[in-house]
Amino acid sequence: QAKSQGKSAYQRFRPEMKAISYERLQMESNLRRALELDELELHYQPVVRTSDGLMAGAEALLRWRNAELGMVGPDRFIPLAEETGLIIPIGAWVIRQACLEARRWQQLTGQPFFIAVNVSPRQFRDPGFVDLVNEALQEAGLPAGQLELEITERLILDDSIEASDTLSRLDELGVRLSVDDFGTGYSALSYLKSYPFDTLKIDKTFIGDVMIEEDDAALVRAIITMAHSLGLEVIAEGVEDESQTHFLQDHGCDFSQGYFYCRPIVADEFVEWIQTNTRAAGQSAT
Ligand code: C2E
Ligand code: MG
Ligand code: MG
Ligand code: MG
Repeated sequence: QAKSQGKSAYQRFRPEMKAISYERLQMESNLRRALELDELELHYQPVVRTSDGLMAGAEALLRWRNAELGMVGPDRFIPLAEETGLIIPIGAWVIRQACLEARRWQQLTGQPFFIAVNVSPRQFRDPGFVDLVNEALQEAGLPAGQLELEITERLILDDSIEASDTLSRLDELGVRLSVDDFGTGYSALSYLKSYPFDTLKIDKTFIGDVMIEEDDAALVRAIITMAHSLGLEVIAEGVEDESQTHFLQDHGCDFSQGYFYCRPIVADEFVEWIQTNTRAAGQSAT
C-alpha cells in the first residue's frame, strides 16, 4: 500500500526532480557540442614497472572543459554519453587522440610505451568498433601491441557472445586487452581463461587498504598469483604511498599506477614527466 501511495502525482513531480532533469538536459545539449568546440581533453597518468618505478606506459583519462560547468570529470559525463549514444563519436576521438599522442612519445624518447584507453560498453558493442581501432592505429602509425584497451568485467558477462567475437577480433589485430576495476564486478572467474586478456587491473579499493586490512592484502596476493598462473600481467591501481609500493614489489605485481607516482596530467606536462623519468633511469643505470 505504501508503495502505491509512493507513486502519487505529488511524489512524481517533486520540484527537485524537475531541477535534476533540467540540469541533465542542459548538460546533454552542452555535451553534444563538446567535440566541435574542442572542449574535450585527455590527461595521462603514467603506469610504472613496480620493480623500479620506471615508466612502462600511460592511461588516457578523459576530461571535459566547459565554459559553464568548469572542468568535468568522466564519472559525471560518461554515463550520460553512454545513454545518449554520444559515447560513439567521443570514444572514437579518444582512441584516435591517444594513439597519436603515444606515437609522439615514442618518437621523442625512442621507447615503446603503451597507451591504455578505457572503452565503455556501448562503444565496445558498436559494429564499427574494431575497424575504428584499426584505423586509429594506422593513422598514428602505432604498433597494435602498444595499444591496450580497458574494459570491465560487467561488459563481458552481460553480453558474452558478441563480446567474445569482438575480443577475438581485437586480439587478432594484436591489441592488448585488460580487465579494469578487477574484483569489483561479478566474480565469475571462468571468463579469464576463455577470453584473450593480457592484463588485470586490480581495483583501487583493494590497494587503498592493503596495508591496513589483512583481507585486502590476502585478496591482492591471490589476484597476483592467479593472474600470473593464467599468463596475465597485473597492474595495481590507486597506489598512493610508499608502503603500498613495497607490498606490491614483495608480491611481484608487474605494474603500478597512482598518485604516489603521478596524478593524471596534460600532454605537455606528461612529456616533461617522461623526460625526467627516463633521465633518472639513465643515471641509475650508470
Ligand atoms: P578507471 O579507468 O578505473 O581510472 C582510474 C581512476 O582512478 C581515474 O579517475 C584516476 O584519476 C583515478 N586515480 C588514479 N590514481 C589514483 C590514486 O592514487 N588514488 C585515487 N583515489 N584515484 C586515482 P578519473 O580520471 O576520474 O576516471 C574515472 C573513470 O572514468 C575511469 O576509471 C574510467 O572508468 C572512466 N573514464 C575515464 N576516461 C574515459 C574514457 O576516455 N572513456 C570511457 N569510456 N571511460 C573513461
Ligand atoms: Mg581504466
Ligand atoms: Mg592478446
Ligand atoms: Mg579502474
